[in-house]
Amino acid sequence: MRTIGLLGGMSWESTALYYRRINEAVRDALGGLHSAKIAMRSVDFAEIEAMQRAGDWDAAGAALADEARHLEAAGADAIVLCTNTMHQVAPAIEAATSLPLLHLADATARRVRAAGATPVGLLGTRFTMERAFYRDRLEAHDLTVLVPDEDDRALVHEVIYGELVRGVVRDASRRAVADVVDRLAARGARGVIEGCTEITMLELGAYVDLPRFDTTAIHAEDAAAWALAGRTTP
Ligand code: GLU
Repeated sequence: MRTIGLLGGMSWESTALYYRRINEAVRDALGGLHSAKIAMRSVDFAEIEAMQRAGDWDAAGAALADEARHLEAAGADAIVLCTNTMHQVAPAIEAATSLPLLHLADATARRVRAAGATPVGLLGTRFTMERAFYRDRLEAHDLTVLVPDEDDRALVHEVIYGELVRGVVRDASRRAVADVVDRLAARGARGVIEGCTEITMLELGAYVDLPRFDTTAIHAEDAAAWALAGRTTP
């Protein structure tokens, strides 16, 4: 089995979900006492968030590139960056080591395509919804992406940074984000990407009709499949 290099802490709330999900996938595939081989670096999110707010993506890229080098030294075979937003600096991370980066948007786009859910709505931080790095990557897989309007983008961004990354899950926010999804459906979305690794904490399943694409689960399962594909013993 290959060793997965988790680059997390953005936030640790969702990195904990990655850790559990990857191990569950390996257990389900191999049974018995099997579990995943994982190396992890987990950052102080306050430092990264300050760089995001300042728009200092070069500094953020350099910081995460440094973490990737630690993962390579720790024996990781690939990097799994446990946040949608910070894929903005994926090129800096990829350039820092010889390891492949298992890109979250590619894993998600393959699932959305297989489900035929295009146009697809996109929820996430403002950075993910408004910048080209993420939408372009999805659209390269022949998907049409719909983002919420300005007010709804502000709402989703605030729920992420004001609540979810702090471990706070409020029912009022769950209902408000479900309403955002309904408005995307009314505009023609046939599915919605939960394009922030904490949105899964809202457990929207009972509140929305559209098929949901949980990027935390998708990315973790993709990483586990990649690790298992490297097995040399049955
Ligand atoms: N985990 C979030 C994401 O998937 C947001 C936190 C961050 O800015 O990294 O985008």
